[in-house]
Amino acid sequence: MSQSTASEISSDSVTVCKTIADLRAQLTSIRNRGETIALVPTMGALHEGHISLIEIAGKRADAVVVSIFVNPTQFGPNEDFDSYPRQLQEDVESCARAGVSIVFAPDREEIYAEESYFNISIISLNEHMCGGSRPGFFEGIVLVVNKLFNIVEPQIAVFGQKDIQQVQILRQMVKEFHHGIEIVSGPIRRANDGLALSSRNTYLSDEERVEAPGLYRSLLYIEEQVRSGVHTPKLLIEHQKSELEAKGFEIDYLNLFAKKTLAPVETLQKGQEYIIAGAAYLGKTRLIDNILIEL
Ligand code: AMP
Repeated sequence: MSQSTASEISSDSVTVCKTIADLRAQLTSIRNRGETIALVPTMGALHEGHISLIEIAGKRADAVVVSIFVNPTQFGPNEDFDSYPRQLQEDVESCARAGVSIVFAPDREEIYAEESYFNISIISLNEHMCGGSRPGFFEGIVLVVNKLFNIVEPQIAVFGQKDIQQVQILRQMVKEFHHGIEIVSGPIRRANDGLALSSRNTYLSDEERVEAPGLYRSLLYIEEQVRSGVHTPKLLIEHQKSELEAKGFEIDYLNLFAKKTLAPVETLQKGQEYIIAGAAYLGKTRLIDNILIEL
């Protein structure tokens, strides 16, 4: 077991690093043992969805690093940065149980210079879906993941299909920035009633929690209709939007998107891959979900 320093709290099975220097020292010993490294970036408030990604990472590499960082640059001015759930101790215990080697939990100052002079702009892939309604969101993600990739230098990084636009944008980033990191996407973990697990689900009131799986049910209905031959789904989607609105959802988007371009499609073609995706508010909680479909 490693020696603890002031900014590094070691437990029996997981080492928590707060600084890049401590993390790099730990990573060097892992590499010196000839072991491979997988990174699972998160914002904490870990649930079974995150744990499933950790399990995937553990099967693909010798050591798993989980980063826990509520990234300020991906939140808009009126979004929930301040109220986002933070529970580091609980998360570290979950990571220990899941066999994680290192939790990297930096403060904001460790990741962002007091005054930054650089940004990464995205030319395409972020005009629609979440990118369309959350200006700057994916720029913030690309910026922080780029930093995490440079800090950790893992062989693989695991992300959830729940944030499918994020996965597609990061795959392109890795390709264009020559990170040499394999991006692995893990399936969406759901509650028994179908609701996609999310750290933000804790915002839901009891009544909203009962209605929340309605979003996934709409996606499933659209999928079923598309599979049974509806290839111009506009009306079908409009109808599902109205049904959701009647149940109290405020729709951000609900549509079919081409998997490759992430642009909305009106007419579906055989042999193509699509994403049936939706985002909607239930009270103050923003829910997102998607289903991948290949015709
Ligand atoms: P977050 O902490 O929300 O930034 O999520 C960290 C990672 O966990 C991202 O790659 C998410 O896509 C993934 N994730 C979030 N929810 C789920 C879920 N229900 N199932 C699988 N992965 C998830």
